[in-house]
Amino acid sequence: MAPKLPIYFDNAATTRCDPRVVEAMLPYFSEKFGNAASRNHRFGWEGEEAVELAREQAAALIGANPKEIIFTSGSTESNNLAIKGAALMYAKAPAGQQGRGHVIAAVHEHKAVLDPCKRLQREGFDVTFLEPGADGIITADMVAAAMRPDTILVTIMWANNEIGTINEVPQIGALCHERDVVLHTDATQWVGKMPTDVERDHIDLLSWSGHKIYGPKGVGALYVRRRKPRIRLEAIMDGGGHERGMRSGTMNVTGIVGFGKACELCAQEMEHERERLLKLRRKLEGELTRRIEVSQVNGHAEKRLPNIANVSFGFVEGESLMMGVKDIACSSGSACTSASLEPSYVLKSLGVGDELAHSSLRLSLGRWSTEEEVDWAIEAIVKAVEHLRTMSPLYDLHKEGIDISKIQWQAH
Ligand SMILES: *Cc1c(COP(=O)(O)O)cnc(C)c1O
Repeated sequence: MAPKLPIYFDNAATTRCDPRVVEAMLPYFSEKFGNAASRNHRFGWEGEEAVELAREQAAALIGANPKEIIFTSGSTESNNLAIKGAALMYAKAPAGQQGRGHVIAAVHEHKAVLDPCKRLQREGFDVTFLEPGADGIITADMVAAAMRPDTILVTIMWANNEIGTINEVPQIGALCHERDVVLHTDATQWVGKMPTDVERDHIDLLSWSGHKIYGPKGVGALYVRRRKPRIRLEAIMDGGGHERGMRSGTMNVTGIVGFGKACELCAQEMEHERERLLKLRRKLEGELTRRIEVSQVNGHAEKRLPNIANVSFGFVEGESLMMGVKDIACSSGSACTSASLEPSYVLKSLGVGDELAHSSLRLSLGRWSTEEEVDWAIEAIVKAVEHLRTMSPLYDLHKEGIDISKIQWQAH
């Protein structure tokens, strides 16, 4: 049976808010509208109670204590607070001086990590950006080799948002704890899909976001370890001293209620969902690479999230491919900048060539993805690639057995 079109395979960009989440949020718009910081009346108490329940739901999802949860506007803010807040707190020299401390990140982090790190560089911190292996993974050995006596912070994402690869975060955490270095992880794509325990996994700071886990947009959280060791952060937002002084501003009670509910649902459904999505992703990748020659799955074959597939197709042009599969809402391996199409810096960091990076698709499945949709998408992509290749002279040469990488092109 044909699924309803277009198919939504862009769950790594954002997810549909679960109707059960919306239902939990509704009373907090106009019935229970109190300011959670109003201590003198029932309206305020109602808001505060709702926020504290959400704090418990969020903490339970990652094995934390509710007191260790700071609500933010999403992962971008959580990353900024964690990275800048920790660097400023643990700086080894005052502002304006060089030698303020060493930070370790990776080149294929999300921009919401890269840009705060670049700001730290401009402000006198030294930042090492690690290159992943061809499998996309940052290992504990790579981090160990980059450590210096003045290293104060390591920030490595748990799972990559473009290729779904999983870094060795628990091992990196153990290493950081041995050396008294703070570990932050952008776990936006990880939390809610994979079991997480900040104690077992040695995490100090962890960011995640509502709209990537079937909750509302504009709300997220930062886990801040309180003991063994107690992590302190310099606040970025100053104001009424909310959230233990780390994030001032009136609490987004409605959003936080939705975030908490989204966390609770993920905890309940994670195990079953993981199995289901893994099967679908394997079918999608397996069929595409079996039926389309000169195609590849990007990133480590096994150490990947259950829901993200990133596949490159040779001998097709990226923009034409996106046009050819326009009934599938997904992302391409090109990053749109103002003037030009640039190949994804994540794929480039794995050593994927510009051509293959442009002609790659990120297909990210989610809670409402079905096998019918996967089957339909496979047929549509196979058809689109085959069609585009009928118009490719290079593909004709390839079929004749000519190695086009060895052709001497005539210069005009
Ligand atoms: C989506 C995403 C972000 C940004 O999260 P927002 O809540 O939209 O600010 C950061 N990091 C990763 C890995 C993401 O996937």
